[in-house]
Amino acid sequence: MEREPLRRHRLSGLFTDGKRLLTRNLTPGKRVYGEELVVSGDEEYRVWNPRRSKMAALVLKGLETFPFESKSNVLYLGAATGTTSSHISDIVNEGLVYCVEFSPRAFRKLLNICGERANMMPILADASAPDKYSGQIGPVDVLYQDIAQRDQVPIFQKNLRFLRSGSVGYLMVKARSIDVAAKPRSIYSKVGKEIKAGGLDILEQVELDPYEKDHAAFVVRMSKGRSRHSSNLNI
Ligand code: SAM
Repeated sequence: MEREPLRRHRLSGLFTDGKRLLTRNLTPGKRVYGEELVVSGDEEYRVWNPRRSKMAALVLKGLETFPFESKSNVLYLGAATGTTSSHISDIVNEGLVYCVEFSPRAFRKLLNICGERANMMPILADASAPDKYSGQIGPVDVLYQDIAQRDQVPIFQKNLRFLRSGSVGYLMVKARSIDVAAKPRSIYSKVGKEIKAGGLDILEQVELDPYEKDHAAFVVRMSKGRSRHSSNLNI
């Protein structure tokens, strides 16, 4: 374990040594995916690897919109084995991360991580059928989706019903999952149009290379004057 001075990152809740990104470890001494642990002062931090997490890649690519607060509640779709959601759990340490995952194999590992972290709630479900888990979750301050499916945009739109009005959503788009043959930028342009037609404003659109090839992140907010109920969504 390294010891070194860290400072606050420009985005609240994150830390840096000038080069790497870190979050304060909610479960000191424990790793989630083999990440490096760093001690600074009285605290332990986890290095957030941008090659393992699209959110870390997005931050390192200059993300400006970062609404996470210590008490935020987050709906995370496609939690897999908890790599990114565990870092979000470090940040929203007094909030809650609802982790939806439909692969039983990934879910088994996710359960172990959630067992160690009181603010991560595992939900074995298909994100395209939000009615199945709507009884388990409350309104959220942030919606995050990373599911690499052909219908990733309609799935994101269906889950906007959980997002508080005026709040922010992150959609990580894998172009090749939508159309393996098309040019990624033509997919992003199509996705952008679908998002706007659904009543959302695009705050930021960022390509994630060189960390993730053919992926882009869309950071969105419900357009002013349109609620999630009145918007033209495919729910
Ligand atoms: N977000 C994860 C991270 O950074 O730690 C990695 C996610 S991985 C790229 C995509 C995950 O989405 C897979 O674990 C897959 O099983 C899950 N997934 C795909 N479609 C889904 C759906 N309809 N409902 C729930 N999970 C889904």
